[in-house]
Amino acid sequence: MSQAIALELRSVSKHFGTQRAVHRVSLSVNRGEFFGLLGPSGCGKTTTLRLIAGFDAPTGGQVLLNGEAVDHLPPYRRNVNTVFQSYALFPHLTVEKNIYFGLEQQAQRLAKSERRARVRDILSVVQLVGKESRYPHQLSGGERQRVALARALVLQPDLLLLDEPLSALDPQLRKQMRRELKEIQRSVGIAFLFITHDAEEALSMSDRMALMNEGVLEQVGAPRELYEAPNSRFTAEFLGEVNWLGRIGVRPEHTRVTKGDPGFDVRSLDATVESATFLGSRTHVYAKFADGQECTAEIESLACEFAPGDQVRIWWRRAHELPVTLNT
Ligand code: ATP
Repeated sequence: MSQAIALELRSVSKHFGTQRAVHRVSLSVNRGEFFGLLGPSGCGKTTTLRLIAGFDAPTGGQVLLNGEAVDHLPPYRRNVNTVFQSYALFPHLTVEKNIYFGLEQQAQRLAKSERRARVRDILSVVQLVGKESRYPHQLSGGERQRVALARALVLQPDLLLLDEPLSALDPQLRKQMRRELKEIQRSVGIAFLFITHDAEEALSMSDRMALMNEGVLEQVGAPRELYEAPNSRFTAEFLGEVNWLGRIGVRPEHTRVTKGDPGFDVRSLDATVESATFLGSRTHVYAKFADGQECTAEIESLACEFAPGDQVRIWWRRAHELPVTLNT
């Protein structure tokens, strides 16, 4: 019977002496899902990936792939592939040979014609048709990344692990590759679990995501859920800026500023404008309250009529208050 769940971690831990690199992590990744594992440096993302791939053994808990415990299986016996941060392409092999490499290890299982067909298909998925004979140094960063993906995907794993897949690319290309990665994942239908410390990356690419902090999972859910309904101050602040108004959290895009009366149906506080930063279509207005606390209101540039020293009301709707407070 085919499983709806590609990966399940049941209370998985990895302790190095007293260091709890990963502590009682439970989560599941569905078939065909794009799952982001996000967290700051040192929170345990890489260790989690290594436990799934089988490079390390957990000190507690269980790893299941397609419903079967795999803890006793070495990496090459798990139907999981990893795309490393460095891509680890063979510099002396062409694009086609790089992709072929993994399949050659399965030569006994797959007929030559089948191997050829698979390489041809995956070259088309990652849009490298016509570049088969190039060597890695003759490719752009984005193309090298796609070769690394193709090399892992051609093996048709149940789950693909990606270690900071976009970190080697320049910022412009990173944004473009987010969409390309999503499209590639959708067309192959294989579950992807990618790790990143970049919140925007996780929010923009994940179907569901998990936020890790000091070895434990803070929250798991859809990106919108974590952003709009964080269950801790850590999650709220890791996923975006938060203004603590009184003791209540409100995102800058929901924080409004006015010189006049904001009306009776909203909450508001007196403040003084400190500065305004023009960002193109949006402007950030920085304001200070009497108690010294500061806040940022993100408004449309066209609506910005504020200068330093202006006495204003900062206001927001109750519906936009985050369900956490400064002390959560
Ligand atoms: P980064 O984003 O910087 O790669 P990470 O979230 O991937 O960080 P891990 O590499 O999983 O974090 O490390 C988690 C914690 O476990 C860190 O405190 C790290 O120092 C510790 N750790 C990792 N590997 C070992 C090891 N082999 N021995 C001892 N401690 C380790």
